[in-house]
Amino acid sequence: MTNVQIGLPWLVRMKPGALQRLGLYLARPCLPSVALFHSEGLPQTILDVALQSLRDHGIALALLHEVNEASVEEAVRLLGAVPPSCKALVGAGGGKALDVAKCIASFAGLPYFAVPTSVSNDGFCSPQASLTLAGKRRSLPTGLPDAVVVDLAVCQRAPLSLWHSGVGDLSSKFTAVADWRLAFHRRGVPVNDLAALMSDASVFQFMANSVSDEQGIRLLATALMMNGVAMEIAGSSRPASGSEHLISHALDMTGASQRLHGLQTGTAAYLVSSLQSGNHHERIGQLFARTGFWESVRNQPFSKEEWRIAVERAPSVKEDFYTILSETDAWPKFATMIAHDAALIGCFQ
Ligand SMILES: [Zn+2]
Repeated sequence: MTNVQIGLPWLVRMKPGALQRLGLYLARPCLPSVALFHSEGLPQTILDVALQSLRDHGIALALLHEVNEASVEEAVRLLGAVPPSCKALVGAGGGKALDVAKCIASFAGLPYFAVPTSVSNDGFCSPQASLTLAGKRRSLPTGLPDAVVVDLAVCQRAPLSLWHSGVGDLSSKFTAVADWRLAFHRRGVPVNDLAALMSDASVFQFMANSVSDEQGIRLLATALMMNGVAMEIAGSSRPASGSEHLISHALDMTGASQRLHGLQTGTAAYLVSSLQSGNHHERIGQLFARTGFWESVRNQPFSKEEWRIAVERAPSVKEDFYTILSETDAWPKFATMIAHDAALIGCFQ
């Protein structure tokens, strides 16, 4: 047995108005000069609050960049643009900007502040960045952010579909942990019990108050963050990613119509959990009914044919990654559910 040292966030702020204090959070640990990477389309009003906060606390803006390409090539290019005076990196907004900023900070060995403006998936505090390399999507190990700043008031103003996406990504932890345990029994894949427990427990905390008010967003953000921490503890994505993520990855790889990540993984978790033992299928069904998750799916139904292709391809997406899909011909069962399950009416076409 070896002792492994892991890096955990040393600052976590989840409250309304946290964005207005960003400069203070950087000033306290003496990080006087930063590069800020933000999402394409991030409302100017949100960006202005962050920039004003930096000015108020005497933090110099060494670089301001709008991220519109989530690739390793772009991250390397931007690494060269970060001035030597820069003491920390900030990623603000959604997936692409946070992934690129996290990757650059990892390359540069600089502290990284994650400032998500919605809680649509667990990427804001995961130990890896989802980027393309030579056109192919990869998960690059980066370590966790040093700081996580979630302005609950900002997240509350984000579209409801983004919150539903976060709910979907969180629910997939049930199926991911079940797959992890299955892989242990079938292939001897080691399970880190603490990481698995943390992953499970965080979902139950959120389920006790699964509404999109301030407290519900705080619990969802906390649960998604703890999943990232569980991944770091386990040294693998197993606590947060199982067969449901394989289906989502396969959808992305096969050029299926683009949908929010958590709407894909959540729907896949609902389907996959019906094949697994235990009562996760009922739990996920109740969570989705309570949160109105399916409404966001029905607003833009999935293609049944694209899902057939993805489900059939999913077991071979990751090498040596045993899940329930490795031992089940899943599509015929899923097709029956899509046709007859009342919850799924209008979710596929
Ligand atoms: Zn995910």
